[in-house]
Amino acid sequence: MTPSSHEVLAKPPFRGKLLIDGAWHEAADGQTLERRSPAHDRVVGIYAQAGVADTERAIAAARRAFDRGPWPRMKGAERARVLRAVAEAILLRKHEIATLEALENGKPVAQALAEVEGAADLWHYAASLARQLHGESYNTLGEATLGVVLREPIGVVGVITPWNFPFLIVSQKLPFALAAGCTAVVKPSEFTSGTTLLLGEILQAAGVPAGVVNILVGLGAVVGETLVTHAEVDMISFTGSTAVGKQAVAKSAATLKKVSMELGGKNPQIVFADCDFDAAVDAAVYGIYFNAGQCCNSGSRVLVQESIAERFAAAVVERSKDIVVGDPLVAGTQVGAITTEKQLATILSHIEAARRAGATIALGGSRMDREGMYVEPTVVTGVEPDMAIAREEVFGPVLSVLSFKDLDDAVTLANSTLYGLSAAVWSNDFSTCLQAARRIRAGTVWVNTFLEGHAELPFGGYRESGIGRELGRFATEDYTETKTLHMHLGARTDWYVPQ
Ligand code: NAD
Repeated sequence: MTPSSHEVLAKPPFRGKLLIDGAWHEAADGQTLERRSPAHDRVVGIYAQAGVADTERAIAAARRAFDRGPWPRMKGAERARVLRAVAEAILLRKHEIATLEALENGKPVAQALAEVEGAADLWHYAASLARQLHGESYNTLGEATLGVVLREPIGVVGVITPWNFPFLIVSQKLPFALAAGCTAVVKPSEFTSGTTLLLGEILQAAGVPAGVVNILVGLGAVVGETLVTHAEVDMISFTGSTAVGKQAVAKSAATLKKVSMELGGKNPQIVFADCDFDAAVDAAVYGIYFNAGQCCNSGSRVLVQESIAERFAAAVVERSKDIVVGDPLVAGTQVGAITTEKQLATILSHIEAARRAGATIALGGSRMDREGMYVEPTVVTGVEPDMAIAREEVFGPVLSVLSFKDLDDAVTLANSTLYGLSAAVWSNDFSTCLQAARRIRAGTVWVNTFLEGHAELPFGGYRESGIGRELGRFATEDYTETKTLHMHLGARTDWYVPQ
């Protein structure tokens, strides 16, 4: 059972160390980092904070574990057994993980619990892929040739994650890298490191060998940048903002390592006049307030066909008034706190800029007057396509409502930002849905639903929303190199012919 808010807050802060080469360490220079709960403004985590020296030790440990350790050499079936044990252990500790996630991130604990369960499913799915990974053979190259294409684990992977879904996002990456036989150095966001350290305990208990997964709490500019630039790291799997992702890609170029980037979004929900009106209103509200709008996949733009635009906006405003914003540890809370002070300031400045640009704040628009960092559910109407609020990622509970004439207009508007992560189409005419879905440049298009996900379905972005895809049946392949074995059978004809 999830403990009460009072019980949780009465406990001492979670204390964590760095996991390097199978043992827990303080930082070499003794530095620590404190996390305060954004909803209660109390210290909830105290962590050893890694510096460059710790990062280099962790990379060396991952390198040794890859070059000489058992993990990459094990049978897929053996790796699968360990990954399944991790999945089961996550479920056994799900309340503990969810509570710490809610404290550090500010999200409702019930939502954190659902995410932890979803994460366990990803570990199970990756276990199934560990036994599927295979290459190809060519027996069609002539009598003297046999070609075999091998898939080999790429090596040491630097895993860098953000603060909005810490446990879920590390589980979108790490189990697939491990299934392929890679080793890793993981750097969670400095704001939400606790649950990744709990995962470290679980990995050790499940039998992941020393050095295979190293976990470093620390700053992006120190730990993150060392991972990105280090010659012994073969790949970076990054989720975070487009701005930092671009910097990471640029800096990784010096070593030409592989990069996988899951970045920001400005995702449109396109609402046609013939849709199921109530379902679309519900999805508009859910799509922007879930996780306080701090989702790469938030539906932060609703594009509504002109004939129903006014009625739709009014219905969204009405429903938004009923959203329960409050303490993430209290049952029934739908929207929790904003996770960081910087994000709070960013959200408020976007709202102010929209106001100055001439948009109407139809609901909310301010920080809430209570303990913790909360923003009112906010609906902005009268938004024009060239306004910043229509183009830039706000990453908060702020919905922009725009209108369109017809399908062509809707698609043009949908594709009018530099992002391309996800979108939704709402219509009862399947032909309209499919025509729009095929023309929208985004990695995921939902049809008459929003923000659903399955391990089987790939996830990632077009354009400035990222590079590569996670999940799906090719997820493990992303963590591999391809090697060609070109074999000659029988006597070879000499190139040199004596004159
Ligand atoms: P962020 O870019 O600030 O940080 C992400 C991670 O990068 C953190 O661990 C941070 O410490 C690290 N980092 C910072 N500077 C670095 C550097 N110079 N080198 C290497 N690493 C560095 O992002 P955030 O604020 O934690 O998360 C919010 C952003 O993440 C939003 O833009 C959101 O859209 C995006 N996001 C995308 C997805 C997706 O899958 N597409 C999912 C979740 C979040």
